Amino acid sequence: MKIIFLFIDGVGLREPAADNPVNAEVCPALCRLLSRHATPIDACLCMDGLPQSATGQATMFTGVNAPVFMGRHCEGFPGPSLRKKIEEGNLFMSLKKRGKSICFADAYLIDDAAELAARRFKSVTTVMALTTPEVIATADDLADDQAVMQDLTRETIQDRYPDIPVITPEDAAAHLFALARTHDFTLYEFFQTDIAGHSMDYARACSVLRTYDRFLAALLRYVEAAGILLVMTSDHGNVESMNEQGHTRNPVPFVAFGPKEAEVRAGVKSLVDVTPVVLKYI
Ligand SMILES: [Zn+2]
Repeated sequence: MKIIFLFIDGVGLREPAADNPVNAEVCPALCRLLSRHATPIDACLCMDGLPQSATGQATMFTGVNAPVFMGRHCEGFPGPSLRKKIEEGNLFMSLKKRGKSICFADAYLIDDAAELAARRFKSVTTVMALTTPEVIATADDLADDQAVMQDLTRETIQDRYPDIPVITPEDAAAHLFALARTHDFTLYEFFQTDIAGHSMDYARACSVLRTYDRFLAALLRYVEAAGILLVMTSDHGNVESMNEQGHTRNPVPFVAFGPKEAEVRAGVKSLVDVTPVVLKYI
């Protein structure tokens, strides 16, 4: 079964509240998906304190409880021991071993993978992508619509790449869907939600969520017609609580939309279960 995996950073589940922009007026497609096709899962992973990106994402993409492995929640970019853990085994490596075709749709503004490997700070997904470098998409791929920018519309790169045109969120969905049709597994990471959550700027959070929602609404129509399984989850809460600057301990959604969706959701209780369930159903 073909799978498209939407990793949306910093989106937890919380009751409606005046400071929660994840509501049906701002992002109707996302809210419909969360109410009908999601199960709440644990992102705290048996560890006190606020869940963080490095350990949350490492857990999501390795199936190892990274906060327990590290003894704490680790922020931002993984350090040497967590990087090593990701390099020993991760979702991309497991898919490759099984002969599955993988697409990491996010474009890196680089010429080749060596340039990426030389970067000092690498996200979990970058460390993972470098273990299967053939999945890495470059600025040239973006220019050919064979990748999707992390902001969806490319507006943030117009100063550097004026020749790569701005697109609509719906165009971004079409580009991502074209990639998903030709690969067994396609990952798209969106982290503007986490950045907006940290900003404590409610209007900014609404703007980011509205853009993502337009993309999501279009993508859902495509994947439903094609019978592709869409999976979505987050590494920790944040944007659903705009009165707090940091992350939250709220559960995060695990969405499965498409073939066998109820069965897929049933086995997932925390971020530890995400990689195993993808490998089970692909
Ligand atoms: Zn964050």
